[in-house]
Amino acid sequence: MSFPITTLARREGALFLEDVALENIAAGFGSPTYVYSRAALEAAYTAWSRALQGKRARVFYAVKANSNIAILQLFARLGAGFDIVSGGELARVLAAGASASDVVFSGVGKSEGEMRQALAAGVRCFNIESEPELLRLEAVAKRMGLRAPIAFRVNPDVDPKTHPYISTGLKNNKFGVAFDEALRLYRYAAASAHLAIDGIACHIGSQMLERDPIADAGGRVLELIAQLNAEGITLKHIDLGGGLGIRYRDEVPPAVSDYLGPLLAKFAGRSEELCFEPGRSLVGNAGLLLTRVEYVKHGESRHFAIVDAAMNDLARPALYEAYHEIVPVAARELTPHTYDVVGPVCESGDFLGLERELAIQDGDLLAVLSAGAYGMAMASNYNTRGRAAEVLVDGEAVHLIRERETVDSLFAAEKLLP
Ligand SMILES: *Cc1c(COP(=O)(O)O)cnc(C)c1O
Repeated sequence: MSFPITTLARREGALFLEDVALENIAAGFGSPTYVYSRAALEAAYTAWSRALQGKRARVFYAVKANSNIAILQLFARLGAGFDIVSGGELARVLAAGASASDVVFSGVGKSEGEMRQALAAGVRCFNIESEPELLRLEAVAKRMGLRAPIAFRVNPDVDPKTHPYISTGLKNNKFGVAFDEALRLYRYAAASAHLAIDGIACHIGSQMLERDPIADAGGRVLELIAQLNAEGITLKHIDLGGGLGIRYRDEVPPAVSDYLGPLLAKFAGRSEELCFEPGRSLVGNAGLLLTRVEYVKHGESRHFAIVDAAMNDLARPALYEAYHEIVPVAARELTPHTYDVVGPVCESGDFLGLERELAIQDGDLLAVLSAGAYGMAMASNYNTRGRAAEVLVDGEAVHLIRERETVDSLFAAEKLLP
């Protein structure tokens, strides 16, 4: 089977991302290192823009999936808007050269400071998730003498059929407002001098592999819009969130155009702009984590490959028992063993992959695939480990887009007692 990263290939035994040997990246930048493919990023974005061609529609890249400013810059140049969830992400998007007017601000816990920052910058829309948040935003806008553009993130109560930790559109989770409440809040906002109703939003989950849930959610949102329209409340945009899944192992996610087909059919002929907030599907299979085997350890009942990347670099396996394909960078004529690929962190949950058949020896490089989304973005400094370097491959060129963290930088903000 081919690799889930389409710009990854083996040439005479060696793994190449585009036209760069991964071996050379490790030699030049060390390990662990996140490696992204520009061609794969662009192809993923293009799949979305093609699927939406000729429609009044727009892609807002969900920054939280991978927030490196070079990647934001690349998407901005391709014409993307951005979906952010913090003031920090807003600062990143602006640093990447994008305009605040192309930014939608999601998230359940926006602080007053973040609201001020986003209003001053002039973001396109705040996606509001609760009544107290609405009242706070109204008060902040009033003090600034502004009108805050808003959409309510509603909860269509549709099962995305994905992992419970990443399903967000069901009644019993913290995201969004219920439909009944949304009606009341829209009425309130319509009467406010400091709120401007711009749209409606929903986001039901992540790593979705079927087309029905988002189409169902869209249908429910249309019912609510009909109720709003009947009261004279009109919307400029309808934001259907992100959530399209990718192949990690043997999943077969629909192509973007397929995925959107039934949904777009439901929305045909409407005047509102359709917005999407894909994260994972734009970056997940454009990146890998390059790591070196420190030790091959043959235990009593298991074989371990102890590598220099750990759960602090890539948390998904430890957090969600997520599967990432792991492939040796050099093909070797060795007896394969079944290895648990584990990191140096002092937690039993610190693994990148379990029971993987690998022909490897000490010092070998491994590529952990499909690591472009929620990889570096979720990395931490647990065990006082500096976060990995990030590089972007573009044809034969390699750009360092984030330096490896130094130990000094890890405690630079800490203070000794007097
Ligand atoms: C996380 C998130 C996204 C992106 O989700 P993906 O599954 O990565 O596409 C989009 N919108 C909101 C509101 C989110 O919280």
